[in-house]
Amino acid sequence: MPVYIGFVPLHLVGHPLVHDALATLRDSTTQPDQFRRMAVRISVILAAEATRDVPIATGTVETPLGPAEAKRVVTDVVVVPVLRAGLGMLDAVLELIPTARVGHIGLQRDELTAIASKYYSRLPGDLSRSYVLMIDPMLATGGSAVSALDLLRAAGATNIRLICIVAAPEGIALVEQHHPDVHIYTPVVDSGLNEHKFIVPGLGDFGDRLYGTT
Ligand code: URA
Repeated sequence: MPVYIGFVPLHLVGHPLVHDALATLRDSTTQPDQFRRMAVRISVILAAEATRDVPIATGTVETPLGPAEAKRVVTDVVVVPVLRAGLGMLDAVLELIPTARVGHIGLQRDELTAIASKYYSRLPGDLSRSYVLMIDPMLATGGSAVSALDLLRAAGATNIRLICIVAAPEGIALVEQHHPDVHIYTPVVDSGLNEHKFIVPGLGDFGDRLYGTT
């Protein structure tokens, strides 16, 4: 059941395996190979939660012993990682929904101001009837999430879910202000942001930890 903070439907994913993986992601001694594995593991479960209501069609399938009811995902699912950190979650979502179309949005966060600017956007055509999963692991100020959501809206998307791994109250509030109908899936809402706009306690720079660029 979503919790509503203001108007934003916020889904706090409490699965123990999500929180076990999150503990490893947070641990400052976790090396990039293990960090990547845990990013995939947590994302599989978060994506499963975020797609609980994906439309399905019921038909039949022949088992070796006869016909059985078969429920299949029939809707157009589009997954959009926000570069570069979102790439660490992409394989997990595609493992669950291999037929998904994939868009990419590249946003660069200014180190001083933390303001996001777009350097790349390539989205699949006609998103108006698509079930869109935006993946961005750290919902910090919300600036890049809102910019990416603006691009998705401009491309016609109406049905959007945002999957992240750690969220800050500031980011949730900004998404609420600009995109109140977007459902947010996260295991946790941390206490806030530090002076560099990093989530505290968070897990550090997700992209750097994923790719070993610290
Ligand atoms: N991006 C990150 O990778 N970490 C944060 O804490 C905030 C933004």
